[in-house]
Amino acid sequence: MKDRTVRKSRPAGAANPATEPGAPGSEAEPGAAGSEAEPGAPGSQAEPGAAGSEAYWSARLPRERYSVLREKVTEPPFTGELLDEHAPGTYSCAGCGSPLFSSTRKFDSGSGWPSFTDPLPEDPISYTTDTSHGMVRTEICCSRCGGHLGHVFDDGPGPSGKRYCVNSLALAFAPENGASVRS
Ligand SMILES: [Zn+2]
Repeated sequence: MKDRTVRKSRPAGAANPATEPGAPGSEAEPGAAGSEAEPGAPGSQAEPGAAGSEAYWSARLPRERYSVLREKVTEPPFTGELLDEHAPGTYSCAGCGSPLFSSTRKFDSGSGWPSFTDPLPEDPISYTTDTSHGMVRTEICCSRCGGHLGHVFDDGPGPSGKRYCVNSLALAFAPENGASVRS
């Protein structure tokens, strides 16, 4: 059995010969007026947390959007502003602006949440198995910022058979501004 006594090495005595009081050569320069920090110096502003951190999102997002996107809260059905939006345009992530869905894939599922049969062809969605609330579901998130969007189910009406059920608060809609599509 080894002796595991930890020996504390105390500094012997208080003498510290390295410290010389009143070392010369450290005078303040008399002509250096304006030692205040320059206002507006680039790169010196503290950001409210690094991009993607919860502090960053908390400062950036309205409370209700933060709850959905970062805390995975589901908005009450039939309350979302975009539920009955039928104009042509693009639905983007309300957190980072990444385009997610086209209005051409939106349909009325009757669920009370904006629903789509497919994401944009780039598939800017990440998929995770969600076993919360005693169910096995597939959670969908923005693959760019990780913001929670909703869930995807296998009972959709389109060829994909998918129903992307998305919180309205997780989305930002940009109408096509009447730009006519020419062929
Ligand atoms: Zn995003």
